[in-house]
Amino acid sequence: MLGIVKAKGAVLTDEEGKEYIDAIASWYTAMYGHCHPVITKAVSEQMKKLDQVVFSGFTHQPAIELSESLMSVLPYNQQKLFFSDNGSTATEIGIKMALQYFHNLGEKRNVMLAFEEGFHGDTFGAMSVSGLSAYNGPFEEHFIRVERIPVPNDDNVEEVLESVEKRLKKKDIAGFIYEPLVQGAAAMKMHRPEHLCRILRLMKLEGVITIADEVMTGFGKTGTCFASEQVTVKPEIICLSKALTAGLLPMAITSCSKKVYDAFYDDAVHKGFFHGHTYTANPLACTAALAALELFRSDEMQGNIKRIIRRHKEFDCRIKDHPRVASTRQTGVIYAIDLTLNTDRYGSLRDRLYSYFMDQGIFLRPLGNTIYLLPPYVISDTELDRVYRAIEGCLELDL
Ligand SMILES: *Cc1c(COP(=O)(O)O)cnc(C)c1O
Repeated sequence: MLGIVKAKGAVLTDEEGKEYIDAIASWYTAMYGHCHPVITKAVSEQMKKLDQVVFSGFTHQPAIELSESLMSVLPYNQQKLFFSDNGSTATEIGIKMALQYFHNLGEKRNVMLAFEEGFHGDTFGAMSVSGLSAYNGPFEEHFIRVERIPVPNDDNVEEVLESVEKRLKKKDIAGFIYEPLVQGAAAMKMHRPEHLCRILRLMKLEGVITIADEVMTGFGKTGTCFASEQVTVKPEIICLSKALTAGLLPMAITSCSKKVYDAFYDDAVHKGFFHGHTYTANPLACTAALAALELFRSDEMQGNIKRIIRRHKEFDCRIKDHPRVASTRQTGVIYAIDLTLNTDRYGSLRDRLYSYFMDQGIFLRPLGNTIYLLPPYVISDTELDRVYRAIEGCLELDL
């Protein structure tokens, strides 16, 4: 365990004063840089006015302003927002919405579809729809009903579409949850928007509630504000967290279309959506999120995103033919390299890579033989150069 005492911009400082470039933005949260003065100032001012209040029967300015601001950037079909407090609850809520949608309509549909190797969080519903993992063993017999489909690629897409189409004919599928374009926990596995779009079109035809888990991809990582912008068929539900509050406080939002909302809007109380956490729409978290969105939309941040995309591309040209590099991939500011070394996912190669980068003052979390970058947008060119040089150095190591 390493004690971290300070974080500023793209840099973490440990208790001995050693600095590390945070090349994964502390799990994709601190995208505008740690302790950004715009965020900390807004929140410290809010803190003196209203810290916390029950979000039932009450509302407040930060929640209202955040909702309006978020609605203006979400895909056009998203009409209503539901607050909670982390990525797992955001997807849990999406799953519950899909299941209750059909319950309210009096239609018996109780199976969820999900991509193989997906990750949607650690609560029961979220765990159920995530890919099979060694960590889920003790709980599997309690999972909700879920079936997994392969992620489409150029080789299997026709086959996948055919089997999905056949499976949907049984009319028992309530929802389909997916990470659009990039599967984070699957070591940044990427798929093409065209393939995903064809799957979503089939789902839509059969009335399946589609849930885009944008907890990782949201707020610019894929080059657009949301990955769903690059896919023609829009989801019914979108899950957001991680960068939503710029890494300052935990919060999540699940948005939905009018179609979903209408199935819950009824005088009969039992048709309502009952899910509420104590800290729902905490005013400080809403303030952080509102300030974060403003930063995201600034010319400076948009310029940074374009710069990182271009720099990753240049770096890719430099290293992709190296004998140690099996393959590379990039979507937006997310860049991943598979090394030509075999290892198990969390095996010792991963540990050796991790230690090598930490020694170089670079915080990265390699997964198996994959090294990936998802740097904060404020990372400077000099800092990026240091990260790239460390990666080039690791290709020459005797691992
Ligand atoms: C991180 C993550 C989650 C879970 O979020 P937590 O805040 O850790 O509960 C869910 N889905 C995706 C795609 C994620 O990356």
